[in-house]
Amino acid sequence: MRWLMHPHRRGFKMALVLVLLLGSGYLLNQAVGYVQLLTDPRSQTFLQWAQGDESARAELITEQREACPGAPFVLPADGFIGLLYGDPRGPYSQSSPHQGIDIFSDTEPGLTPVYAAYDGYVRREADWRSTLIMRVPDDPLQPGRTIWLYYTHMADRDGNDFIEEAFPPGTREMFVEQGTRLGFTGDYNGASPRTVWTHLHFSIVLDDGSGQYLNELDFANTIDPSAYLGMPLNYDCVPTAVGCAANPTCK
Ligand SMILES: [Zn+2]
Repeated sequence: MRWLMHPHRRGFKMALVLVLLLGSGYLLNQAVGYVQLLTDPRSQTFLQWAQGDESARAELITEQREACPGAPFVLPADGFIGLLYGDPRGPYSQSSPHQGIDIFSDTEPGLTPVYAAYDGYVRREADWRSTLIMRVPDDPLQPGRTIWLYYTHMADRDGNDFIEEAFPPGTREMFVEQGTRLGFTGDYNGASPRTVWTHLHFSIVLDDGSGQYLNELDFANTIDPSAYLGMPLNYDCVPTAVGCAANPTCK
């Protein structure tokens, strides 16, 4: 402590200590997430997906090309819905849970189609390699409210995209109907050194009230997709996601 309080370069030393504290807090949070992933009995499905043969993997796959009874959205891709909404397992955590669902593909990158979950207006920001967002001006479950549907990881590891040519970077307000093919799933993970399995991340993002989507990385800006897809998809309520259900939301 005397080292810290000594006036020589005190500001620098204080900043160094702060950075170390924040850094170790972040690493601890990540570590807890990974331990949760490894020890959660539900994570057996990840082992089954990673190590199982074709039939073991097939057991985990949800194929649902029609909307579930009573639900407005169609599942945007077939596959193993491995990470759920609100999921705290690594790389997520209790304080920063998963903001959507991850649908893992039983194919190589670039082969499993991704479809528009609902009618909406496609936007692709100029620097988005693997991502589209769709504006839905009238939330079918809460009329009058705007929501946004976010689809990402549609590129290969090097960032070569699998998005349909109709949606180049800079696309704005292009109307598409539900079920329109948007592209294909991939394993792009930005500049992160962490490799990911081929999948689609899909989430429902809230609007800021003026026709602009909020930051989709913040869990508080997203909503539970269960009722929209007619499938129980909330980590707090279901052991694994298997498909349509009569009462998909948490009690
Ligand atoms: Zn995800």
